[in-house]
Amino acid sequence: MKEIIIIGSGFGGLVTGNLLAQKGHKVTIFESHSMHGGYTAGFYRNGFYFESGTLSFEASSSVFKAMKDIGVYDKIEFVRQKLRFVSENFDGIPDTYENYKNIVYKGFPDDKDKLDAYFSEVDKIDNAFGSPDKPLPFLFSGFPYLLSIIPFIFRGRKLMKVMNEYRDVTLSEFAARFFPEDSQLYRIFRSMGYPDASAYLSAISALLGDYWTVKNGMQSWADVLADNFIALGGEIKLNAYVDGIITNNGKAVGVSCNGKKYNADYVVSACDYKKTLLKLLDDKKLIPLDMQKKVENAPVSEGFFTVYLGLGMSNEDLSKYIKTPHVSLHDEQPGCDIYNSCDEEFFNKTSLTLYSPSMVNPKHAPSGKSSLMLQTLVPYKWMQNWGNGDRKKYKELKAKATEAIIGKASKLIPDLKNYIEYCDSATPLTYERFTHNTDGASSSWSWNPKKKFYEGGFMTIKVDTPVKNLYIGSCWAMQIGGIPGALAAAYSCAKKIK
Ligand SMILES: Cc1cc2nc3c(=O)[nH]c(=O)nc-3n(C[C@H](O)[C@H](O)[C@H](O)COP(=O)(O)OP(=O)(O)OC[C@H]3O[C@@H](n4cnc5c(N)ncnc54)[C@H](O)[C@@H]3O)c2cc1C
Repeated sequence: MKEIIIIGSGFGGLVTGNLLAQKGHKVTIFESHSMHGGYTAGFYRNGFYFESGTLSFEASSSVFKAMKDIGVYDKIEFVRQKLRFVSENFDGIPDTYENYKNIVYKGFPDDKDKLDAYFSEVDKIDNAFGSPDKPLPFLFSGFPYLLSIIPFIFRGRKLMKVMNEYRDVTLSEFAARFFPEDSQLYRIFRSMGYPDASAYLSAISALLGDYWTVKNGMQSWADVLADNFIALGGEIKLNAYVDGIITNNGKAVGVSCNGKKYNADYVVSACDYKKTLLKLLDDKKLIPLDMQKKVENAPVSEGFFTVYLGLGMSNEDLSKYIKTPHVSLHDEQPGCDIYNSCDEEFFNKTSLTLYSPSMVNPKHAPSGKSSLMLQTLVPYKWMQNWGNGDRKKYKELKAKATEAIIGKASKLIPDLKNYIEYCDSATPLTYERFTHNTDGASSSWSWNPKKKFYEGGFMTIKVDTPVKNLYIGSCWAMQIGGIPGALAAAYSCAKKIK
């Protein structure tokens, strides 16, 4: 039995904790916040439930296998999500990739030839990656692992061809091959997922049939994982910010927290990568200088701005307007530039998503009312990082962004502002304050293939660090992070620690 300390109780930390506790190790999770969950936490305000960040997940076959491995699958009510796509030209709820294409074709009849060319390339990418109906290989060991990679071997040539062709191509570059840069179609297709993400992401709509959430909210999922971990003998320390990783002879041997030292055979950092190596580690000399520089300068994924609204409007009335709990409103205006941190009007120009937790589960709002979240990605450090530390300026900027986003959502929900009973918003600074993710990074490193931190493919998993017995158990072990990244990190850590 080994003594293991995990820093962070997000999805990565909780899954790692469960897998290691199942093996009989003595595992303690240190969580700086007063609640476990990280980006899969949720919270109540005035009787309204909101997700803190993550609304949904894909790669369900992998996620479900992991929950079965841990033994909690039956305790979580996963529900399929449908996404409504709205723009000036189209409005539909496609539940397959083919339906999605039909909706776009119908909205842009004059652009049929361009769309034919675009979708034929996207089909090629989708076809090479294959359907995600089988759990990813990282979830297996031994013979089952060999079986799990067989489909990839069969698709090997196709996959290599597509990867070689598109490895370094961004979504903007890809969209520009088919559509004029001042066209609406260009603006729609260049921003699927993260800005300037890999062109592979153009096939993201192929995942429309694999889009899930948790009926009782993401926090309930984190709660089930935390309860199971504790039942397996694990311990979670809340309000326990780890301020140092202690090493001895190049090996991690414990952590410091609230003025105390805790020993361990292994330390798993299930939190921000940059802070782990550059801030928490007691001996920076263990990290080669060039690696320190690389870590420091590596761009991270963009953060979100989220508006949380409690509405004096019933779910029935809200659903007349938004139809599905999750809506992608393509409303990007000319001149919208995610790389322009000085554009005061950014929030009037950007697209957004609307999500209603109470339409997924009416218990998420008081009777006769509803909850709504509005989200958009934001430029790094918008307006001198939201006012350069000036509290008054910060509040003004937050209010301005909130008003603009509510105004945009009013295109679907007329008079929205008259129904608001509760309103708050989170900036990337809020996300950083609660999760310690650098700049409020929402899904580990940059998704731009030209700005990669890890060598290799965008799903390469790397949990090792230059420090012996210190592993990465968070989404930061994978270039594009997310729930699959956190899962992959957890399984890899559990394999490393025998
Ligand atoms: C708005 C939003 C939408 C998203 N949508 C999706 C999606 O649709 N699909 C998808 O796959 N992913 C999505 N993601 C990303 C996904 O949620 C994350 O990648 C994943 O949940 C990260 O889990 P994690 O455990 O690696 O890290 P985190 O959830 O960041 O957890 C880290 C934990 O560590 C704690 N911590 C940090 N430092 C310390 C310290 N020094 N001491 C103690 N505790 C510490 C933090 O408080 C936190 O609880 C989204 C993220 C956001 C913000």
